Amino acid sequence: MPMAPAVRPAAALCLAAGLFAVSSSAQSVVRTADPAKRGFKEADFPRTVRVADGVYTYEDFHAGAEKFTTTDMFVVTDGGVLVADGQGSPAATRGLVDAIARVTPKPITHVVVCSDHGDHTAGNASFPAGVRYYIHPASKAAMGRNAPADAQLVTDTATLTLGGEEIRILFLGRAHTGGDLSVYLPRRRILFLSETFLNRVFPAMRSAYPSEWLSALDKAERMNSDIYIPGHGFTEQGPVSQEELRAYHRAVEAAIAEATRLYKAGVPVDDAVSQADFGEYASWTLAASQGPIAVRRMYDELAGRLR
Ligand SMILES: [Zn+2]
Repeated sequence: MPMAPAVRPAAALCLAAGLFAVSSSAQSVVRTADPAKRGFKEADFPRTVRVADGVYTYEDFHAGAEKFTTTDMFVVTDGGVLVADGQGSPAATRGLVDAIARVTPKPITHVVVCSDHGDHTAGNASFPAGVRYYIHPASKAAMGRNAPADAQLVTDTATLTLGGEEIRILFLGRAHTGGDLSVYLPRRRILFLSETFLNRVFPAMRSAYPSEWLSALDKAERMNSDIYIPGHGFTEQGPVSQEELRAYHRAVEAAIAEATRLYKAGVPVDDAVSQADFGEYASWTLAASQGPIAVRRMYDELAGRLR
């Protein structure tokens, strides 16, 4: 890691072994998904972040050369623990389960499959047997035989009360996967958006519905949550999370606009992927690999090939 970062929030905000507070000063936070630029060491992960009383995120590295976090949320109540999304392997999700056990003796009782992609579901075998799963029908279909058996399907909204805590599972529309679920805690005004919100990670569109994704982001912003939590990238303090959700929304708009410009100019897709200029977003995590994928997906949308 080449540079000495200007701030080292990790050490200052460590509450206990492996437990961190959300960075408290907006000024001190480097707006990036890159752990090194943010002032972290690789050994700082995985880590548990306390977002509010009883509400935590768990951040572990996504597999691959480019380092960024896959972020899960868990909610501790007297009636049990609800987990939104897992990690990408049984060992990684075992790490999440163990981290929850270090925070509370309450059992994990509910798991919401917010993103059906493997980096959020391939470790689900490490969740305790007998937990109740929630999933959108499109995600259940996408996962096929890997989908949790007997999961409760959520096509629009499901509300449950767990240990007195109201928890709403929401489908805000097709975004990153087509079956994207979010988890909202109305008493705390916290919205976990999973992969509908990739914090400073280039819009990943392999299985996305780009224009509908903008509508889902509009809906999320209209909810005026105090805190928005992403499925990749860092857990932010409230006002920063609101700004970063807006920044992400602009990134999706920019990716769509650039691909649309090339499409309307008649540039063949194989040339468009190299001609695309994403401006400031070219420096975001995964831009090199996800930029071309976004162009191809937008060409499919514009040609009416997405259903
Ligand atoms: Zn993912």
